[in-house]
Amino acid sequence: MNLKLLGARFFAGSIAIAFAVAARADAVSSVDEMRALLAVIHAELKPVGDGNLPGYIPALGDVDPDLLAIAVVFADGRTVSVGDARHPFAIMSAAKPFTAALVMKQRGRGVIREKVGVEPTGYPFNSIDAIEAHAERSVNPLVNAGAMATVSLLAGDGPDAQWSGLLGWYRQLAGADLQLNETVYASVRETGLRNRAIAALLREYGRLYGEPEAVRDIYNRQSSVDVTTEQLAMMGAVLANGGRHPATGQRLLEPETVSAVLAVMTMAGMYDDAGEWAWEVGLPAKSGVGGGIVAIVPGKMSIAAFSPRLDEQGNSVRAQLAIRSLSARLDLGLFGPVE
Ligand code: GLN
Repeated sequence: MNLKLLGARFFAGSIAIAFAVAARADAVSSVDEMRALLAVIHAELKPVGDGNLPGYIPALGDVDPDLLAIAVVFADGRTVSVGDARHPFAIMSAAKPFTAALVMKQRGRGVIREKVGVEPTGYPFNSIDAIEAHAERSVNPLVNAGAMATVSLLAGDGPDAQWSGLLGWYRQLAGADLQLNETVYASVRETGLRNRAIAALLREYGRLYGEPEAVRDIYNRQSSVDVTTEQLAMMGAVLANGGRHPATGQRLLEPETVSAVLAVMTMAGMYDDAGEWAWEVGLPAKSGVGGGIVAIVPGKMSIAAFSPRLDEQGNSVRAQLAIRSLSARLDLGLFGPVE
């Protein structure tokens, strides 16, 4: 998606308001200022109807397409949100960086590089061509192939233990009792033939470290966990806060694990739109076909946005625009200002 062109249609009329609210990151350190800015962005994006619900997972086609939420969690744990920020949605691929983080916590930073890969694919997230085109086969932990390889590396005596460890980890990050959405899980299971093919192919290449159907089941469960936009932002805030939980101060990840996760998110978090995203937004991020995106501003904050309609790459249209708008207005991009 060309974020700049799409964004320009909606932002042109509101620049004056934005400057009146806040123009620089330094100016937005208070919850009230951030809430005012998020409210402006929310109001601007509310009328945007571009994009479509994902057709290939029927349960995701049943959600209200007009839902829209933005949440910011500062590195010190202060939380600000607007819109439907407490409405649960399926985390889908936005779970993938957190699973990779757990595997590195359990087995060391090098395991993802050696056994999965860290290169961007340039292909869609569920591409089989990407597996054939890359020597690592599994490519990186944020596309379906590498995410299944990552799941297969989870510590635990058997699939049930691996899954309960993973769900417990997500709950710890979110600081909330996250649950599996059974309807989404059933839907993903019934329609996951392509992922079945990917798991089998990886196994054939020696890049899946468990039994394909058991691995795919854990992968499907991880996609089907419900989160709210606020909870997703809290999960991201652990990464923004260098691995310490912002609410409790507890160290959950070593800094070198956080940097590894952020590196992969920067290169591959938005799939074949990662280059456009780096250019326009400049933040490590991860999207899911449930409509959520989480972006990290290291040391400062995590931003999550949610809106169900997706572009051709499977990234939420309005969630991308919301994060782009905030990043541009507050100069949050890691590479410097964008227009
Ligand atoms: N469960 C989805 C799939 O495997 C996740 C994809 C996504 O969110 N991009 O296709």
